[in-house]
Amino acid sequence: MTDAPPTSAAPPVADPAKFGTARIVSRRDFHGDLWVMRLTTDFDLGYRPGQYCTLALPIGGRLIERPYSICSSPEEDEIELFIERVPEGELTVPLYELGVGATLPVRRRCKGLFLREAPVAGHDHLLVATVTGIAPFLSFARTLRRRAERGEWAPQSRVVLLHGASVSAELGYLEEMEALAREVDWFTYIPTISRPWLDPDWRGERGRVEDVVRKHADRLELRAGSASTFICGNPQMIDNVRGAMRRGGHPDAHVHEEQYWPE
Ligand SMILES: Cc1cc2nc3c(=O)[nH]c(=O)nc-3n(C[C@H](O)[C@H](O)[C@H](O)COP(=O)(O)OP(=O)(O)OC[C@H]3O[C@@H](n4cnc5c(N)ncnc54)[C@H](O)[C@@H]3O)c2cc1C
Repeated sequence: MTDAPPTSAAPPVADPAKFGTARIVSRRDFHGDLWVMRLTTDFDLGYRPGQYCTLALPIGGRLIERPYSICSSPEEDEIELFIERVPEGELTVPLYELGVGATLPVRRRCKGLFLREAPVAGHDHLLVATVTGIAPFLSFARTLRRRAERGEWAPQSRVVLLHGASVSAELGYLEEMEALAREVDWFTYIPTISRPWLDPDWRGERGRVEDVVRKHADRLELRAGSASTFICGNPQMIDNVRGAMRRGGHPDAHVHEEQYWPE
């Protein structure tokens, strides 16, 4: 008698030369499909603010990989990620099911050039994000704060973070960012929601980031030529903010973007 053929292929193995292992050590869920998780790795995941790591899961006989911008400062012990579960998303649907203690492959090398020029000497910084697009800016702000506290970075320029979502419950770092803005004078946080009718208690800014970005840039005197703009998140928003900044005279060379998915 022969053995029955296997009904499914063995799960693909991540090449240990390219992948290490990450363990989920904590998880914070909020507003539907959004969650923050903190990871430790069994190797040194070196990165700069603005870079992303690549998570993987074996799914259907293939190793599915996706990049995620890192929220934590490189000075923190754990890696923090802010992720949205995309309906029918190949990776995020099974990733969302993983709880504390689960392990998964992560590429050993982090990549990304998004914030490589920041902080730009002599420039103010306008950071514009939708929902999870705040991730690289969190890493940047947390790192600047630590460097400023140690006297390694003298805040001669301002950092203005404009963060948009549909409703305030999606602004996953509202309290931390508001606290930072109260504590240091170099940082301004402007949260804005685009569906205020679903959030009647909200007293902050209303409108999509692309609809309010010029108003705040002008109000805060973030001037063309002495301000650098960094935009992160969905492609349509990035296009619209770039257009708004261009119309305000900001040269394209001073506007940088990190697009999370193709248009
Ligand atoms: C440099 C970089 C950094 C990124 N950082 C983050 C991050 O910090 N947090 C995060 O959640 N995602 C981030 N992403 C997006 C992430 O890599 C995946 O694309 C996303 O998680 C969807 O993966 P998936 O396999 O579940 O969906 P897929 O099956 O690959 O996607 C299906 C389709 O959904 C659309 N889509 C992808 N992401 C979204 C979204 N967030 N909202 C609506 N539609 C979407 C796209 O059109 C895509 O083709 C980043 C992408 C890049 C390029």
